Amino acid sequence: MNDKTDTLCATRDLILSGQIKVTEVVQSCLERIRKTEPVIQAFVNIQEVKALDLARKMDEQGPDKDKPLWGIPLTLKDNICTRDQRTTCGSKMLENFNPCYDATLVRKLREAGAIFLGKTNLDEFAEGSSTENSAHKKTRNPWDLNKVPGGSSGGSAASIAAGQSLGSVGTDTGGSIRQPASFCGVFGMKPTYGRVSRYGVVALASSMDQAGPIAANTADCAAILQVISGHDPLDSTSMDVPVPDYLSSLERRTDLKGLRVGLPAQYWEGKLDSEVERVCSKALEQISLAGAETVTLDMPHTPHAVAVYEIIAMAESSSNMARFDGVKYGYRDKEARELLDMYIKTRSRAFGEEVQRRIMIGSYVLSAGYYDAYFKKAAQVRRLIYQDFIQAFEYCDLICAPVSPFTAFRLGEMVDDPLQMYLLDIFTVSLNLAGMAGITVPAGLGDRTDMPVGIQLMGPAFSEELLLQTAHVLENYLPPLPSPRALNE
Ligand code: GLN
Repeated sequence: MNDKTDTLCATRDLILSGQIKVTEVVQSCLERIRKTEPVIQAFVNIQEVKALDLARKMDEQGPDKDKPLWGIPLTLKDNICTRDQRTTCGSKMLENFNPCYDATLVRKLREAGAIFLGKTNLDEFAEGSSTENSAHKKTRNPWDLNKVPGGSSGGSAASIAAGQSLGSVGTDTGGSIRQPASFCGVFGMKPTYGRVSRYGVVALASSMDQAGPIAANTADCAAILQVISGHDPLDSTSMDVPVPDYLSSLERRTDLKGLRVGLPAQYWEGKLDSEVERVCSKALEQISLAGAETVTLDMPHTPHAVAVYEIIAMAESSSNMARFDGVKYGYRDKEARELLDMYIKTRSRAFGEEVQRRIMIGSYVLSAGYYDAYFKKAAQVRRLIYQDFIQAFEYCDLICAPVSPFTAFRLGEMVDDPLQMYLLDIFTVSLNLAGMAGITVPAGLGDRTDMPVGIQLMGPAFSEELLLQTAHVLENYLPPLPSPRALNE
């Protein structure tokens, strides 16, 4: 593969027209992994033999035009269950967990002809913003190996930036697709809550978790989203809403004429680092140049979003983590002599610091004496945040905002300051609280750090088609990023 064919859609066309074999595609990805993985550390496990075996079988059979991802090598964040393949959630708790079933989205991708190269690194149980909370390893940012790739889907985003696969599926509870995509200079979409089945996706905060694509461009995101979207009887939160043809609808828009893009003051004032502001402002100029009208808006409850998110996410995660008790599955401490001691030793030894912190805070905000003051209040303010979005969409079709106030930070720079790390999520968490959809589009490199800066488009529930179309237009207006510096030979 050369640079021009280094995208999912281009590769699929070459495979289907017989110009390239699936084996060659898979081998070329594996070669790239061999070269870059020693420094990037994006994978928790690599399925080289299985992937090549499947590729050979597919080549013997010949291209199947009815399968939209025929022969396409993908990766999956390691909190998505894969049958007979270790799914660790970046935790010692599940270091030897082999699910006996595939997540629905995995089954759909397999049926569409995708080949999985392996599972990618993440913050333990998707709790974090830098992938440093993984029990396995620290993934590095392909643009600067001393910096984090973002999180919690940092392995997936770094892997796409490093060209190791043609697409990945991550999860986003409070920004975990959009923020690492921004830090690594790639595209990532958080679909509407209910768009993609969460069956087999290990829960963090069940009222916000969504899975979505991370890829090198909009069309590749659309191709993956197309396959994984849709109602699933196994997930009662998945919605029975028709799935548009995302990919072919991209061609229907070549400019942004007639589109109103809202710029909420609370996202653009104050907290932004100056280089991020400069890159994002240039992107706004391109949005106007493409024909969109921009309108300034107020989303007054935005300053409360992080506090509300943390209370709700921690409360929900504390109850989701209760299932890891050393009895049902996963790690069990063998030293304990009686049940309570076994629970305590198992959970204190197998959960990392951040997971334990969130279990404690989550249990506290749900406890009888504090429920009204914290959880109930947070649930009420969540509603106001949702209403901010509903009102905003009376004045605009989409909202545009930065993804993160800063570019990727140094490894280790924030690990001792969890509060600071939580505050970084200020521009991403509201969307999850509101259950709506958003996408990160790489907008350029910061002039001080020379690191990627992403811009975020947010839309109402089930606006994925419009979001992808807009991102696609913007992609043609914005200068493409060069290839990540740290990997240049
Ligand atoms: N950074 C956020 C957190 O730590 C987001 C996590 C996520 O989206 N999975 O909770």
